[in-house]
Amino acid sequence: MDATDATTLYAELDRRSAAVAEQVIAWRRHLHRHPELSNREGATAELIAGHLTSLGLDEVRTGIAGHGVVGVLRGGRPGGRVVALRADTDALPVADLCGTDFASSAVDRDYPGGPFPVSHACGHDGHTAMLLGAATVLAGVREQLPGTVLFVFQPAEEGPPVTEAGGARQMLAEHALDDPEPTMVFGMHLTPHPKGHVGYRAGNQYAASCLVKITVTGRQVHGSTPGRASTRCRPPPRSSPASASSTASSTPTTRSPSPSATSRTSAASTSSASASPSGAPSAAPSRATWPTSSGA
Ligand SMILES: [Zn+2]
Repeated sequence: MDATDATTLYAELDRRSAAVAEQVIAWRRHLHRHPELSNREGATAELIAGHLTSLGLDEVRTGIAGHGVVGVLRGGRPGGRVVALRADTDALPVADLCGTDFASSAVDRDYPGGPFPVSHACGHDGHTAMLLGAATVLAGVREQLPGTVLFVFQPAEEGPPVTEAGGARQMLAEHALDDPEPTMVFGMHLTPHPKGHVGYRAGNQYAASCLVKITVTGRQVHGSTPGRASTRCRPPPRSSPASASSTASSTPTTRSPSPSATSRTSAASTSSASASPSGAPSAAPSRATWPTSSGA
């Protein structure tokens, strides 16, 4: 493609972008009014797939990692490059306080941990609408494009429920980008910068969140006497064989650990059965997930 061709093509892209702008706004407002949480983006995916199909793309793949959609547009000119444009499609469990006439009143009653109000508080309605617009514009000039464009609509960017797989990792696991494999990928996210500003960065742009599971192992104790448990939460000193033998003579539980001592040992993995220096019956060990005794 020479410079004249490129200039002509850019002008055509501008003209087509202006022509589709109202439709992009309408898509965005529709999606804003009908948000769906991560891994529940069924209606959103249906809208996406329906429009990509109407554009006559070479392929429209659906059901990837749940509700992911990938459209493939092969240009009419020779070229080996494959450019992927990606948008995320899911909403957040946040009430919509924007007050516009296209505000969301959606509530997901079945979502794990819910019910939750649902809104596009992270702007993915805008991303989805813009990528639909880009697909519309580029499909209109396909005969002039050297190479291939992938339109990647990714669900569950905010993270799926803990018991479900989903998101970008799952899309890759399901070979969403294997054939054709992109030469480069452009993702985009709205931010509250002044209108007309665009920032970019190669590599990672935003932080991601992840889940951390913490198991707290301690001793169950009544809330009125926390001090009775505090010393017993410490790992016991290692006892020499002689002292262990001595202790054993006075505290049979050392040689024949009580069920509670045994379970504590297996839970903490580092303690021995001699954690009760006085030999008195000790409170059962407790994990954070056990019911507490404070209500007794
Ligand atoms: Zn986001």
